[in-house]
Amino acid sequence: MSRPILFALDEDECLLRDVERELVDRYARSYQVVCVSAPEEAIEQLEALAAGQEDVALVLSAQWLDGTTGSELLGRVRALHPHAQRGLLIEWGSWGDGRTGEAIFQAMARRQIEYYVIRPSRTPDEIFHQSVSTFLLEWANARRVSPHTVHIVGEEWTGRAFELREVLGRCAVPHAFLLADSPQGREMITETGKDGLPLVVFPNGTVLADPSNMELASATGASIEPHRREFDVVIVGAGPAGLSAAVYGASEGFRTLVVDDGGIGGQATSSSLIRNYLGFPRGVSGRQLAERAYEQAWVFGAKFAFMHQATSIRRDGDRLYVALSDGDEVSARAVILATGATYRRLGVAEIEDLAGAGVFYGGPASEAPAMAGREAYVLGGANSAGQAALHLAEYAHRVTLVVRKDSLDAGMSHYLVRQVEGAPNIEVRLGSEVVGGGGDGRLESLVLRQRADGSTETVKADALFLMIGADPNTEWLPAELALGEGGFVRTGAEVENGGGWPLERNPFSLETSMPGVFAAGDVRQGSMSRVASAVGEGSIAIRLVHELFAAEQLGSTVG
Ligand SMILES: Cc1cc2nc3c(=O)[nH]c(=O)nc-3n(C[C@H](O)[C@H](O)[C@H](O)COP(=O)(O)OP(=O)(O)OC[C@H]3O[C@@H](n4cnc5c(N)ncnc54)[C@H](O)[C@@H]3O)c2cc1C
Repeated sequence: MSRPILFALDEDECLLRDVERELVDRYARSYQVVCVSAPEEAIEQLEALAAGQEDVALVLSAQWLDGTTGSELLGRVRALHPHAQRGLLIEWGSWGDGRTGEAIFQAMARRQIEYYVIRPSRTPDEIFHQSVSTFLLEWANARRVSPHTVHIVGEEWTGRAFELREVLGRCAVPHAFLLADSPQGREMITETGKDGLPLVVFPNGTVLADPSNMELASATGASIEPHRREFDVVIVGAGPAGLSAAVYGASEGFRTLVVDDGGIGGQATSSSLIRNYLGFPRGVSGRQLAERAYEQAWVFGAKFAFMHQATSIRRDGDRLYVALSDGDEVSARAVILATGATYRRLGVAEIEDLAGAGVFYGGPASEAPAMAGREAYVLGGANSAGQAALHLAEYAHRVTLVVRKDSLDAGMSHYLVRQVEGAPNIEVRLGSEVVGGGGDGRLESLVLRQRADGSTETVKADALFLMIGADPNTEWLPAELALGEGGFVRTGAEVENGGGWPLERNPFSLETSMPGVFAAGDVRQGSMSRVASAVGEGSIAIRLVHELFAAEQLGSTVG
């Protein structure tokens, strides 16, 4: 197989040679470096490479070109090389000149580039290489060729193979799926010499045939046992709110346990690119953010018990007991509920049967590149649906956003409405819903109904992404824990005003009607449904636990 390609375009031959020098010096062993100095030649070569099925990993281009711009050209690269990363080459400091700054801003908003790159100066230029290696890691992840990728070999996309993919997704583990009767699938089965599908092949040589969720999670290195039973704080949920509480709890010396019925990251793992989280100017995938937060909590000493559902909470004396789905209990002086919310199901049987085979709940994080040249549908009218449609539009031939309401403005932020309406390959069908669909092993068609007159239409569809809202995970909580509208957990002033608060002292701001039990993130009534606010609330909850313990200490001293 030929080496993947690093491609650079600049009309200034001298500057281009600097880029070529740095790329060749550092990467020539594993990549081919192709540098051209004319935009037409660049497009011709990129088209020829696509026709020859060559793998282009990275395309860098200067912005100001004869008759076009780098961002226009990079915008066209997506259709030719769906996995290629695209960087705009700029001079150091030129972001300060209005024209270049605006070009970067527009290119990012239109998703024509992943990010900008400062041209190399003297050699070796480690800042330039940091940018290039970040691009290459993103490319390897999207291409499923990053080291430590787990392979699942199954007979079909749906059923148990899909469930196993979901488990790995929820453990934030990079994975790839192979059909058993594909050449690669057959090769992998022969190599492992194992019977029983689905087969899971780990990079360290471990092979599991049709494993349980617990066995699979355990083989990825995820901790599935609490190891002890008594803690200072038990956190239920390992999404952004729970992970934040774990980092702050463990770093401040609390014996901290995090329990999750899946793995790490919660809903955030289905976000391909979180662009509004502080400190990540080029955006961060939900999976990466979750991995980093998990590592951070782990090195501070937090303990984790994955694949365990919390099934009830009770108080006995000064301790709270959380029952787990394996039948055991863990106890703590304080509990933080960070159980977030779960996607609503569509409830159309023939669509549900194709989950994982063209039908996906949540964002198109890893499926988007596979949509190149295809017809994709997104059902939903909120910001997450708008984001998903824009992300898919970079790859798909056409994206249709199916919205129940009669206006996009009813559920979507204004900036997203503008982007969606401005995207040439996004069609919006207002006042519509999905009522049926089907396909032979994979989604092939959908039945759409116009709500106003009940008329239906069958359309060709290669994928459907369902983003129709989420319900809070609170059905397991005891009756004494007051819930508000839609089942979200009441906290602080809402508990005080709503009645049912049993103590003389006032509840803390994130405290529920069950003293010592706090709620943070999307599960809480009035939450902002953002990663940053969930993270903020997780840390605040720990601060409040401190105050609670201090007040209890005072109470017992005085008493
Ligand atoms: C597709 C998509 C894209 C998004 N993009 C963005 C974005 O760009 N920017 C942004 O700010 N926000 C974004 N969001 C919203 C953001 O992901 C959520 O606001 C955030 O994840 C909420 O965090 P959380 O910790 O409160 O809950 P969650 O992320 O929902 O995590 C809850 C965790 O609790 C676990 N759990 C639930 N019940 C139990 C139980 N009984 N026992 C044990 N464990 C349990 C779940 O398995 C889950 O892991 C996006 C959401 C989606 C779906």
